[in-house]
Amino acid sequence: KDARYERGLSQPCQTQDGMAVCLQVNAGLVAEGEQLDPAYVGGIGLYRSETLFMVQNHFPTEQTQERAYQRVLQALGDKPVTIRTLDIGGDKPLPYFPIREDNPFLGWRGIRLTLDHPELFLVQVKAMQRANVGTNNLRILLPMVSNLDEVIQSRKLIEQARLELEEELDRELSPVQVGVMIEVPASIYLLPQLRPLVDFFSVGSNDLTQYLLAVDRNNAQVADRFSHYHPAVIQALAQVAINVGDSELSVCGEMAGEPEGALILMALGLRQLSMNRRSLGRIHHLVRHLRSQQLEPLKVALLQARECTEVRQLARQWMDVHG
Ligand code: PEP
Ligand code: MG
Repeated sequence: KDARYERGLSQPCQTQDGMAVCLQVNAGLVAEGEQLDPAYVGGIGLYRSETLFMVQNHFPTEQTQERAYQRVLQALGDKPVTIRTLDIGGDKPLPYFPIREDNPFLGWRGIRLTLDHPELFLVQVKAMQRANVGTNNLRILLPMVSNLDEVIQSRKLIEQARLELEEELDRELSPVQVGVMIEVPASIYLLPQLRPLVDFFSVGSNDLTQYLLAVDRNNAQVADRFSHYHPAVIQALAQVAINVGDSELSVCGEMAGEPEGALILMALGLRQLSMNRRSLGRIHHLVRHLRSQQLEPLKVALLQARECTEVRQLARQWMDVHG
């Protein structure tokens, strides 16, 4: 956290000319949720539920999950908390659930794995919805979606869990909002078909960059080739902003927490960003010093850029002139 920017968080998060931008926080530990002041954040845009699974030596029970989710939901008061269903596989192994694959990033990950084990998925979405009974601020986010059927199946299980809970508790529960991560490039082209099935979308720029550029996000050998400032990533994000229509869209990858990244995303039309807590003050400051009309020329220039360096340079120059 940068102390210089923390004080500004008490001010409304809007540009000089009054355009509101919703800044949310990414979290993975209950404590991270409990340390937030709900007055200063737009909610939790990404709660990585796998953290809870990674610190245990067996699958957490429904009750353990419920307690953890409930603490986070309660900590945020009336602000929304977007909990992502278990996203393991790839770079996130579970010690008690070994997966052996030649190509883990193209393998059994995220929603693919949990839909192959619906009992895991059902326990989790039931724990989430049980935790939500008193607070009603839960949203559920599905990771690594690349097919419509994954969304249809997930929604069925979420609905099944809701009906089972209604029966058990003998009370009516309203359905929770369900969103999809845009992080497999295929999902960009499915947005028009996904829209009627989904309440909101959230771009995972880390995986989207990895899969668009075919560059492992964790391989030091190719680290200099991994960049969410790559012109192809910028084009893809612009396409997402178009294909999403009037559905709710946010970005929850690391890009949203970098000043240049956040600026570029706002130029592309994003009005909701979720980031690490430590980036919040800096990005809040950036929003408050912006004028929304200045973003259009930046967008035009960004869409013509040919190199990562050029994209980054455009954002930096813009901040030197306007920031
Ligand atoms: C992403 O892929 O951008 C994302 C937010 O999810 P994770 O980093 O947890 O894969
Ligand atoms: Mg991801």
